[in-house]
Amino acid sequence: MGEFELISHYFAAAPCAQGGEGVALGIGDDCALLDLPPGEQLAVSTDTLVAGVHFPAVCDPLLLGQRSLAVAASDLAAMGATPIGFTLALTLPEVSAGWLQAYADGLNRMAQGCRLSLIGGDTTRGPLSITVTVFGRVPAGQALRRSGARPGDLLCVGGELGNAAGALPLVLGERQADEQVAQPLLEHYWSPSPQFGLGQQLRGNATSALDISDGLLADCGHIAKASGVALEVNLHQLPLSSALVDLLGHEAALQAALAGGDDYVLAFTLPPARLATVQAPVHVIGRVLEGQGVTLRDRQGQDITPRQRGYQHFRETP
Ligand code: ADP
Ligand code: MG
Repeated sequence: MGEFELISHYFAAAPCAQGGEGVALGIGDDCALLDLPPGEQLAVSTDTLVAGVHFPAVCDPLLLGQRSLAVAASDLAAMGATPIGFTLALTLPEVSAGWLQAYADGLNRMAQGCRLSLIGGDTTRGPLSITVTVFGRVPAGQALRRSGARPGDLLCVGGELGNAAGALPLVLGERQADEQVAQPLLEHYWSPSPQFGLGQQLRGNATSALDISDGLLADCGHIAKASGVALEVNLHQLPLSSALVDLLGHEAALQAALAGGDDYVLAFTLPPARLATVQAPVHVIGRVLEGQGVTLRDRQGQDITPRQRGYQHFRETP
């Protein structure tokens, strides 16, 4: 099967590639064309997943299809954007019909769940790597940025933390667990749900937002820096799933919530008066103060900030 047959069979023919709102022209020409309503801005984000770095080289391609789109789509949710479409740049070591069909099925499932149309891409041969670029729209000037947090705001998250980090040893086959513990954690790792509804509700309410991909403390550091404020996180307020606590115990579950990556839950700052306006689940975990950096506090208010924060590519280990 050649490149063009592959594209048309697995991707151009997929239900998610048949166009949708905002898509004037999809797969097949040199560019796709998007329509943007007057007064809206285009939100764009790219994510690359490399085999052996971002996912195990041997894994279920259907789950990989779901996850590779979800992690990119989460960035649209974090800006408060409404999804339009995405492109897929796929580098494959070989053409395996079974792998491609399962991958395309998983991708399609997530795309339809997120209302994202597949509008183009690129297909090349090489070590397995997946790059997804997502496009969304947001009313001009209303995107949720990292830079608007103000002293007095509450620091909040949109869901339980640490589940994906807890799942990682299960994903890598380093650890086994009972079905009722493993299943929800693996679900969270392989099929994160981008928080579009929450992101859209936060427009005009939150002063800053991002999606947690590198770990809570590291990502809160990004808000603190961009906004020129200090953030305080209260350890006892972190929402943990019972599956995570069952698997790891309370201490290690907190560690996963603070430093584990891949949660794709939104973290945001909100003036206290706006808390009641947001219908979606909101967990208050701290507050914004004058100053800089992120401080972690225990129930007694003691500073227990760890030195190591999250995962960074290219960082030299001390
Ligand atoms: P060009 O050479 O002009 O960049 P290609 O031959 O790479 O175009 O691709 C042909 C068409 O198929 C384009 O519309 C491109 O966006 C689309 N395409 C290529 N690879 C993929 C893919 N993996 N998924 C979806 N669309 C793809
Ligand atoms: Mg090309």
